[in-house]
Amino acid sequence: MADSTLKSWLDIADNSDFSIHNLPYGVFTKGKGAKKVGVAIGDYVLDLYAVASLNLLTKSKINKSIFKNEFINDLMDLGKPKTAQLREDLIKLLSSNRSKLKQHTKALIPMEKVTMHMPIKITDYTDFYSSMEHATNVGTMFRDPDNALLPNWRHIPVGYHGRASSVVVSGTPIHRPCGQTMPLGADAPVYGPCRLLDFELETGFVIGKSTQLGDRVSCKDAEDYIFGMVLFNDWSARDIQKWEYVPLGPFLGKNFASTISPWVVPMEALDPFRVSGPKQTPKVLPYLKTTGKKNFKINLEVGIQNKKGEETTVCKSNFRYMYWNMSQQLAHHTVNGCNINVGDLYGSGTISGKKPSSYGSMLELSWKGTKPLKMVDGTERKFIQDYDTVVMRGHAEKNGIRVGFGEVTGQVLPAKK
Ligand code: CA
Repeated sequence: MADSTLKSWLDIADNSDFSIHNLPYGVFTKGKGAKKVGVAIGDYVLDLYAVASLNLLTKSKINKSIFKNEFINDLMDLGKPKTAQLREDLIKLLSSNRSKLKQHTKALIPMEKVTMHMPIKITDYTDFYSSMEHATNVGTMFRDPDNALLPNWRHIPVGYHGRASSVVVSGTPIHRPCGQTMPLGADAPVYGPCRLLDFELETGFVIGKSTQLGDRVSCKDAEDYIFGMVLFNDWSARDIQKWEYVPLGPFLGKNFASTISPWVVPMEALDPFRVSGPKQTPKVLPYLKTTGKKNFKINLEVGIQNKKGEETTVCKSNFRYMYWNMSQQLAHHTVNGCNINVGDLYGSGTISGKKPSSYGSMLELSWKGTKPLKMVDGTERKFIQDYDTVVMRGHAEKNGIRVGFGEVTGQVLPAKK
């Protein structure tokens, strides 16, 4: 349904992530002003509070108060019919030559003049483990190369409940976490700063429609509940994780921080980039059966910047590789009657491809530290060092239509004393 002839009257670079086909939502401030909901378009943020105050939302007629807001949760809670109308309003305002917005260009704020904030009040956060390549790599390194995948993996979109309180927006510095680890060959654990700090290249989806306790969301209906997607860095302390994870899974090795992109890309914008996922063998149980194209072709990359900002690209991957799709993840999550809320965040799990250069974590890229990566400044990395900044980018492109997430960045600072 995307029309590649659709153009904005604004000057937008061909390689901009924020084309008229995208229109992702975020929360911004300008100077000492209040937090407001905006949409990214080219190099600008369109102030939706200003647009609504000018009565320019002629189809959706959304009250301006929704947009003077700490988060986009209230907007998502209006439901997809309403937010689809808002999207129609915005496309028209930004593309029509007779657009009234042209007389009110103050509503368009240059991006460098705003500060972006957490877009979502995250109600709950769950992280999956849905890339077969990632699960196989980890299983090969830590268990048995001949039986890398555990017996449940091809039957269940494996996941765990994460921590919502420590999800932060792009640009927030992260202190190296401290914790308990068991050094190789030692007979007692030690406490101290994590030595094997890692990123995990992920995407996340955000819930825009709630259910009641006891309800199930079927694979068929799952996309009605998914408002949009973000880029997601699920920071991981591998040495803490390795010692603590038996038998209940990830805990302090994961919950110190996860970083999301400031822009939430609505699912409508990603529709042109649907692709079929990998063949699932053996057949999944009926409640996990999906039809049609449920994967999305989104190019992803990770760079590591040194203190001077010199960047080395360390990974290029693609969201299309995921074995389990988002509909299956949500259907599985709710099949026992677990309710979901507007603002829930679901991480994809590390997105690795088949090639070593497409692995989505340092654990895999440096193969447990045995193959250090060369940086452009001549240094090497096995894991993330203090003052490194990890930058993730993601975009989809097809037939001249580009839709992207911008960046998710985070600098690592030394452990707190
Ligand atoms: Ca993860």
